[in-house]
Amino acid sequence: MALLNTLQRELAGLVELLLPASCLLCGRPSASVSLGELCRPCQMAIPPLCSPYCPRCSLPYTAEDGSDHLCESCSRRVPDFSWVAAAGLYDGPLRQGVQRFKYGGQLNLDLPLARMLAQRCESLVRDFRPDGLVPVPMDRRRLRDRTYNQADLLARRLAKIWRIPVASGLLVRCRATVAQRGLKETDRRRNLKDAFVVRTPVSGRRLLLIDDVLTTGATARECARTLRAGGAAEVAVAVLARAPRHGLLIPDNASRSKGGLP
Ligand SMILES: [Zn+2]
Ligand SMILES: [Zn+2]
Repeated sequence: MALLNTLQRELAGLVELLLPASCLLCGRPSASVSLGELCRPCQMAIPPLCSPYCPRCSLPYTAEDGSDHLCESCSRRVPDFSWVAAAGLYDGPLRQGVQRFKYGGQLNLDLPLARMLAQRCESLVRDFRPDGLVPVPMDRRRLRDRTYNQADLLARRLAKIWRIPVASGLLVRCRATVAQRGLKETDRRRNLKDAFVVRTPVSGRRLLLIDDVLTTGATARECARTLRAGGAAEVAVAVLARAPRHGLLIPDNASRSKGGLP
């Protein structure tokens, strides 16, 4: 029996070596895909964020030729973060990938998604020179149910790529909150008020918050507010995907396609 198991394992290894690797998103085998990567068609189908957008929270506008300007939400209450970098819009294959990574337990998407974010936001992050990556913390009960915090996994991958340490345990949730999905912006704000606390000194530090998706920005706002109130010199945000409109998500096939982040 043991011999049979060993043979089976060796045979599986051999098949893996002989067959081309398949894309972690669409599953198509491709000679140009290396193990643990996304295929070129999937990468091409994930357009980067493009102007015009809000220079603060990266909310994209539908007018193709307008200039960048503060969105209504940022004009009303200026966020405590300086900018939001994202690998792309929360749409199409990126939306699929984030959902599988976040809810579907497909944890091996952490590396290709982190690589895409790192590559697309490289110069922005280098210029900012953060001294720590801060994953948005998950409350204990939710962490127990889901068993992993996707922001944490992402931050660990990004830390290796950018060689910036993860500031683990620096920011923690001090109380449970209800899920933000489906809440209006004002309710999201109320839900998160004083939900985070700074556990280690942040005075004078330049911190980059890491999360999977930015929707209304309420979570990032409250985290940044807490960090700045704790003395952080500057806070910026990097997410895998930026939702196209506050609280509203466009259909999967309505992708936009121009390049460049702020
Ligand atoms: Zn693919
Ligand atoms: Zn904005």
